[in-house]
Amino acid sequence: SDTPARRPIRDLPDELVSQIAAGEVVERPASVVRELVDNALDAGATQITVRLLAGGVRLITVEDDGAGIPRDELPVALRRHATSKIADLHDLETVVTMGFRGEALAAIASVSEASILSRPAGQDSAYLLDARSGELRPAARNQGTSVEIKELFFSTPARRKFLKTDATELAHCVEAVRRHALARPEVGFAIWHEGKLVEQWRAVNAASREEALARRLADVLGEDFVAQSVAVQRDSGGISVTGRAGVPDAARSRPDHQYCYVNGRFVRDKVIAHAARSAYEDVLHGQKQPIYALYISIDPARIDVNVHPTKIEVRFRDSREVHQAVKHAIEDALAVPRAAAQAAAAA
Ligand code: ADP
Ligand code: MG
Repeated sequence: SDTPARRPIRDLPDELVSQIAAGEVVERPASVVRELVDNALDAGATQITVRLLAGGVRLITVEDDGAGIPRDELPVALRRHATSKIADLHDLETVVTMGFRGEALAAIASVSEASILSRPAGQDSAYLLDARSGELRPAARNQGTSVEIKELFFSTPARRKFLKTDATELAHCVEAVRRHALARPEVGFAIWHEGKLVEQWRAVNAASREEALARRLADVLGEDFVAQSVAVQRDSGGISVTGRAGVPDAARSRPDHQYCYVNGRFVRDKVIAHAARSAYEDVLHGQKQPIYALYISIDPARIDVNVHPTKIEVRFRDSREVHQAVKHAIEDALAVPRAAAQAAAAA
């Protein structure tokens, strides 16, 4: 027969395992930006600066003023399945941090030239770790961390070929930061490309979460987004839905202003999208795309965030309750301007 000659089963080398994992996590520069900003937020940063060259293909640097990484732990940060965020299964089931898989830095470093410069509080100096050589040496820095990713996919040309123009990759990087910025108004963000400031969203200091969000939404998506939307605020059955929902007139032909978060994490979710669509069904008849930014808070034990390597999907233990919560939250919010318009029409 033509059965191919069989090769023995063996463990793949570590480097190759990481490169395979990188295929799932790192699709393009924006994936790196997302992971590094996740890490900065998990470290409690209040200011995050992203610097890019050539749409992030040549260089991505993410600087934060967070907790930092102690010298001795720098090499550990780059190891696969090494994380400070969970320690056991119970932690996994109640995780509230953006990260927990301990995969991102290892995966990214396996397809780039990576280095980490970090200084935690109480450490005399910062240290710089070069991922490729393993060299660790003292360097200058205030408290916080800078991760530098150079020449993404230099060792995996198949992946590199799928990259688009610098302008397109830059747009995806900006969108990745935008998604974070919309969830964290108390954190300042800046994006530089080729030495020029592309976007800057200053940390918002407001009396209420609602006001802080409205100001951040105006900064990031434009004053129109806020002017053409109403506040959403509904709690029921341990599910809180807040944010803003666009008035029917603000609907667009494309779904480009639809942002959903679950426990602070940007998600793409069919249940939420469907709930939103049905809340607008009566007024938009499914023909135009509503604009919204919705923030769902739910007991972490009621969701599974470990569904997808990039964590852009979640699974709800009770998706019908979530569907109802989102639908009713938007309907309640839209009832406000509707009632006002009816009152105006009647007067
Ligand atoms: P995860 O985020 O899933 O833990 P990563 O590979 O992204 O995995 O990061 C590994 C570890 O390195 C983190 O658990 C954290 O302890 C540390 N780390 C990474 N980035 C930062 C940062 N910007 N500030 C402080 N610690 C960081
Ligand atoms: Mg991470």
